[in-house]
Amino acid sequence: MKKVIAFITTIAVVLSLCITVFAESLSYAGECTMQYYDEIMNISVYTNNAYGIVVQKGIDTKKQALTKENIIAAMDELPQKFTSNIGWIILTDKQSPQSKDIVASYYNKMIAFYDNEWLNDESMMIFGGNPFDFFIFTNNIQSTYKYILCHEIAHSIDTCSISEEWHTIVDESEKLYSSKVKGKIKYDEEFANTAALIIKDFEYVAKTTPNKYKYVAQILNAHGFVFPLEQVNDNSPYTNK
Ligand SMILES: [Zn+2]
Repeated sequence: MKKVIAFITTIAVVLSLCITVFAESLSYAGECTMQYYDEIMNISVYTNNAYGIVVQKGIDTKKQALTKENIIAAMDELPQKFTSNIGWIILTDKQSPQSKDIVASYYNKMIAFYDNEWLNDESMMIFGGNPFDFFIFTNNIQSTYKYILCHEIAHSIDTCSISEEWHTIVDESEKLYSSKVKGKIKYDEEFANTAALIIKDFEYVAKTTPNKYKYVAQILNAHGFVFPLEQVNDNSPYTNK
């Protein structure tokens, strides 16, 4: 009986110690959480029944040239089946946590558009690599954001860029300059870029890289697009190489 009482007392002491430590860490976490909420609550939120747009309040429009209206207009042009995986789109004037040169990113049903002021300067987005060398976007975010949005949405439907079939197709095709990181091909970026390019100008992609076109256009068609899959490559100078 004594042993039992001693055991219960020990448990009680340990428990009360734990509760004290836990309570302290809780109140600390509480403070942090409140600070965090203060920071992230400084936003305005737009939602329709498909997705939401979060805009940082007091956003520096020189650093973030996109508006909620730009995003809604671009989303409206796309098939709902294509955009249905997107939950939130965030507009901020902060730089990307990954790299200051990243304009947007996709993660877990969320697209974030970061500080893109650098795109409004002398810089340009160039999608290079023969024959894409001449595929140059202007240096104004307003003319490139639809492409960027489609690129990010394409990541959300990507279940194939790890497949061997896609790797083979990419390895045997012309690559997009922006899909190479330190000379290494990023197959997921190649997929997203190809999808976005097809949406922008499918005939161009079908002509220049028919195999990549066919593979990705088929996936896009399963997500509400209607790109032609047959007659597109008959006269392509790149088909029989
Ligand atoms: Zn990407």
